Amino acid sequence: MADLRCPKCGKLLLKFQVHGSITLIVKCPRCKNLCSLSMEVRGETRDTTGQG
Ligand SMILES: [Zn+2]
Repeated sequence: MADLRCPKCGKLLLKFQVHGSITLIVKCPRCKNLCSLSMEVRGETRDTTGQG
């Protein structure tokens, strides 16, 4: 689990969990700063619930 904070005022905007790649664009409700984030996570599947 990771969180996205506004780089300008530090407000916590959202929490998220990523599998694969993700691109987020969130407008901070406090200071109206537009925060964008993109990341890619490569194959770490430790949390497996069953095989197949
Ligand atoms: Zn902000």
